Amino acid sequence: MRDSDGINRRDLIVKTAGAASATSALASMTPAMAQKSQPLPPGFDTQAQPLVDNWRNHLSEVVKVNFDKDAPELAQDAVKERHRIYCYLLMKLIHRFWNGNKHGPLGYYPQRAKQIEFIQQSPKTQRYHGDRIANPEGTRINRDRYLGHNIACIAVDGNGAIIDFDFNHNDFFRSTAEHAESRLVRRLFSLTDFFDSWKTGQPIGDRSRAFSLSEVTLYTSLESCAQCSGVMSLGGVKQIVYMQNDFTAYMIGNIMYNLANRIPIRDAQGVVSTLPGAPVPIPASEIGLAEFKMLNDENLKFADKMSNADQNDLEQAFFVSHDGTIKDFSPSITSFLCTDRAYEIFDEGGKKLDTLALHFPKERFPGEEKILTNEQCLKEAREFYKYADVEGYRGSPHKL
Ligand SMILES: [Zn+2]
Repeated sequence: MRDSDGINRRDLIVKTAGAASATSALASMTPAMAQKSQPLPPGFDTQAQPLVDNWRNHLSEVVKVNFDKDAPELAQDAVKERHRIYCYLLMKLIHRFWNGNKHGPLGYYPQRAKQIEFIQQSPKTQRYHGDRIANPEGTRINRDRYLGHNIACIAVDGNGAIIDFDFNHNDFFRSTAEHAESRLVRRLFSLTDFFDSWKTGQPIGDRSRAFSLSEVTLYTSLESCAQCSGVMSLGGVKQIVYMQNDFTAYMIGNIMYNLANRIPIRDAQGVVSTLPGAPVPIPASEIGLAEFKMLNDENLKFADKMSNADQNDLEQAFFVSHDGTIKDFSPSITSFLCTDRAYEIFDEGGKKLDTLALHFPKERFPGEEKILTNEQCLKEAREFYKYADVEGYRGSPHKL
């Protein structure tokens, strides 16, 4: 609509609703109500059933995940314990490869006093720990280059075996898109050659290809973004357990889970069932991980501190360069994930992998013989850590 039509948006409201009632009409008109009168565009109405089902729902309903439907096992304490084992491993890996040098090892990070490498006479040569912090001796990997943020994930197959882990590599690739989950999913395909029919034949065993990653669980330290949720959906990943909210990711994993078309699966006996078209997003609060709330609370505190900081007081900054040209007061979550407080949470959480006393050592999920028991899962996680500690580096433990 153009002003040259002799009417603008405000005029239209006034003329159609009447001047007296215009304000109240606007206030009571929600987007959902406006949407109700809109039919689905052709094609979407016949081919996108979840979209049809949710078309008239409020956003609060669209983001709601029904665990009873697609992850009913979360009601079992033994299953929660099983998930926590891998979360503790992930925390221990993040702690092991911790690098908070977002602006390099030199300069001044007031929120990282405990990560100073050693005291120097001159503040200009003061350095902060990089990857060496967790294990300064005894490994052949000694580096402190900041490759990406302290965000990582691991992949676990349907039996409980750990496949691989990866880190965020944004800095290494000078990119904002090299996230841990999408990197790991791409590597899973390269490791397995799932879709190379010349080598593997088809289908895989007695299963359709939609099963490819459908038994794989990803554990990630931070709620997934739109890109990673999309890549995991395309990969057919079963579920994603995340240890902290990303409040800027607008619950896209939940939305995608609810709006994606489900994938029909036919097993060897010809029984048809469906898989979610996107991974089931499981906040670690659902598996009783205490660190979920701690990380969220501390992240919000950090954001609040940065947003309200007196920018003339450099002690309140996240980072200040020695020449004073860089003063970083950003409330970014990736900065929070460099701070001493975040480091301590991952340190303490990671230690639980070593000290954990299982309540359900003999339980397994599902209850098939080939599935590892919780006791075996814990052993697997501890073994994997030993391997990654020596052979791994920030995100690429395998030797291919
Ligand atoms: Zn992402």
